[in-house]
Amino acid sequence: MLWKGRRESTNFEDLTGSTGGGGGKKMIGGGIGVLIVIVVALLTGKDPSALMGQLQNVTSGTEEHVCETNESKNSEYMSFVRVTLASTEEVWKTEFEKMGQVYEPPILGAFCGKVSTACGQGAAAMGPFYCPADHKAYIDLAFYSELQNRFKAPGDFAMAYVIAHEVGHHVQNLLGISAKMEQQRQGLSEAEANKLSVRLELQADFLAGLWAHYAQTSQKIIEPGDIEEALNAANAIGDDNLQKQSQGYVVPDGFTHGTSEQRMYWFKKGFETGDINQGNTFAANAL
Ligand SMILES: [Zn+2]
Repeated sequence: MLWKGRRESTNFEDLTGSTGGGGGKKMIGGGIGVLIVIVVALLTGKDPSALMGQLQNVTSGTEEHVCETNESKNSEYMSFVRVTLASTEEVWKTEFEKMGQVYEPPILGAFCGKVSTACGQGAAAMGPFYCPADHKAYIDLAFYSELQNRFKAPGDFAMAYVIAHEVGHHVQNLLGISAKMEQQRQGLSEAEANKLSVRLELQADFLAGLWAHYAQTSQKIIEPGDIEEALNAANAIGDDNLQKQSQGYVVPDGFTHGTSEQRMYWFKKGFETGDINQGNTFAANAL
């Protein structure tokens, strides 16, 4: 990704020094948290999202988290995150204008280990996540190396895809899609409610792909191999893959993010079309 020397977003907070507790609202998680949540959910038969709150305490209490202490590496990570965020701001500003709306960009908070949010305490083990209540995306900078080492999804564009996915959740929040889905989930069985969550996640992947489309066509920020890096990451953090890693088999009803194939499909669709109207993952025939 050709990110060096580009505009860095000011909608960024360095939270690497912050800790603390919070409320109990629902977060929309990234990849890694789901791994642990699903395992716990399978063991206990509970709704994965309901377990998020409990999980945070568990993980922050028992896991030793290594923060990046190298100053120059840290500031490079932060620059990268800010440039990617700025790129999403430009794309979504234009897309919202096309819809006759004004885009209000999210704040992105970079943390290390744990972080206090309007959605409760966030932990690195949950992976990057978006909190609809404070309109902020949170990302642990160590996730960059997690992608590379643990998920075998190296490359700066893999990380950019993850950021764009979280921004996608913000877009869903602004467009009222998240709230509508949360309403629809009420009264559904756990399996049915999970299916709706999958559709929301896949749409965030589609929106990340749509960002990549304009990052390439308008901003010329993409290098050869970048899209493969994103697809590789989408593949690596699909729920079926995470579950295989964690227990050796796949349990479809526990999915909350979609399979690797679905995640790649929707990212690609957004990337290839650049057309927001193609992103209805909630359509009956979408999955
Ligand atoms: Zn997500």
